[in-house]
Amino acid sequence: MSPSTRTAAGPLAGRPALLHSFLLSAADTAPDSPAVTEFVANDTVRTTTYGELRDLARTYAADLDALGLDIGDRVILESHTSAHAIALFLACSMAGLPFVPVSPETPDERLQTVMEATGAALHLQTENGTREHLPQQAGTARFGSGRLRVARRPRARTRRRTELCPTDTAYMIFTSGSTGRPKGVVMSHRAVVSFYRGMLSQGIVGPQDRVATTSPLQFDFSLLDIGLALGSGAAVVPVPRNLLRWPSRFLRVLADTGATQVNGVPSIWRQTLRHLPERLAGLTGIRGVLFCGEDFPLPELRELQRLLPQARLINCYGATESMAASFTDVPRPLPADLEKLSIGYAHPGAEMLLVDESGRLVDEPGTLGEIHLRTPALFTAYWDDPTASAAARVPDPAEPRSGQLVLRTGDLAYRGPHGELYFCGRVDSQVQIRGNRVELGEIERRLREHPQVAEAVVVLVERAADEPRLAACVVAQDRADSPDDGRLIAFCSRTLQPYMVPDEVHVLDAMPVSPNGKADRRVLAAQLAGTR
Ligand code: ADP
Repeated sequence: MSPSTRTAAGPLAGRPALLHSFLLSAADTAPDSPAVTEFVANDTVRTTTYGELRDLARTYAADLDALGLDIGDRVILESHTSAHAIALFLACSMAGLPFVPVSPETPDERLQTVMEATGAALHLQTENGTREHLPQQAGTARFGSGRLRVARRPRARTRRRTELCPTDTAYMIFTSGSTGRPKGVVMSHRAVVSFYRGMLSQGIVGPQDRVATTSPLQFDFSLLDIGLALGSGAAVVPVPRNLLRWPSRFLRVLADTGATQVNGVPSIWRQTLRHLPERLAGLTGIRGVLFCGEDFPLPELRELQRLLPQARLINCYGATESMAASFTDVPRPLPADLEKLSIGYAHPGAEMLLVDESGRLVDEPGTLGEIHLRTPALFTAYWDDPTASAAARVPDPAEPRSGQLVLRTGDLAYRGPHGELYFCGRVDSQVQIRGNRVELGEIERRLREHPQVAEAVVVLVERAADEPRLAACVVAQDRADSPDDGRLIAFCSRTLQPYMVPDEVHVLDAMPVSPNGKADRRVLAAQLAGTR
């Protein structure tokens, strides 16, 4: 097979079921439109058009092809989101090479584990990347100048594959493990493209939009943002991760790049809401905010809505195993008595079912069940883990005889009066306290209702020789006005069953977060297990 058949110039170019063809389709119709708008310095932004992005991706694809890799060989892409990183993953897609995005902050040991587990053929980092001591098994190269600079060629191999198929792997994401131990989620071209189609049918952004993306490239929320933008003919605006922590810099990036849509986990807004609400309110060009990954504390969401009354706020629910599942508009305005946001219905082309412990489908409103997602965006498997794969890809509970598999999410929910869903935490955050089943999320919700509490996470702490204890970790709305332990416990006692009332309260300056920006329950549980 001639290598060119696998690149964008070859016969695969027009096949929209492949990741790169789908994301680059605006390069044919609007090659001069901005595809990526990057913040370089105050008042300076750099724009890469769709035509330039396609050309860059093709050049990188030709360089990759020259390394002799076969369809299916894994490539580690160590980078923040940038025009070149996007061009590179598109190039991997053109060359049939599954990419595994990894953040430059990833500890050496974790990177080694990922490289070994995936048997990666090649490691890529930017020209100014600092990673050293990479495993000998893999080739190494740098990117950023428009060409690959190869330091060590990958081992020579025989090319066996001839045709890149939509069922082939597009990428692999190693989850951060907030829902269990880290697993390599294998996603095919077909799965990701069908997810993008479902998402785009919701009309979230249009070609004039600029979509700010704040998640690290290794978290597939960034790939969702990139698909949302490029699939709509809009521009991606990568927000440099090191500026995200500083509200004034974050807002500066949004203002200078003319962002109209801002996507990220709820915690990206916290500091800004606290310290620079007026400046945020001044960004009247923001038409949409999409958040994902965990509950958005309602007091903060109300404040965000008050400051950005023109913006459509969307609660995006889902997991890496299908990229996401639903996009639900936050009511505008949020009713004063609203206690819980809905995660709505699955996006067009997908369906969320609820299943109880006995495997029965739950239809009646108010009854708890585990979300099972029927979707063409179903992941292929967890890399090299048939047991975990079989536990998550299960027979269709509606008709197991059909052989259709659905995603068993591990998420609990109930239906509202119109069939819409309400997320209630994870199956594994249900704990047993003195024989009673307790949903930690319910206690967290009660704590967050307290006016002095901004954030709350409850963990079950197991200290040697002690009965497990419920520990509430809270962050105050106002540091100068810290909530009192006894009062918080009394507040919980007013509405919760006695066995659900926290045994201890810890007021923290800040909640520890995972690399993806979500509250890190494991760290809290481990820290508290070592204290008294
Ligand atoms: P990890 O957190 O391990 O990196 P994921 O990003 O796949 O992996 O996490 C998916 C989980 O995050 C879901 O199964 C669900 O528990 C939670 N989640 C995702 N979106 C929302 C949301 N909008 N509201 C509440 N929880 C959410």
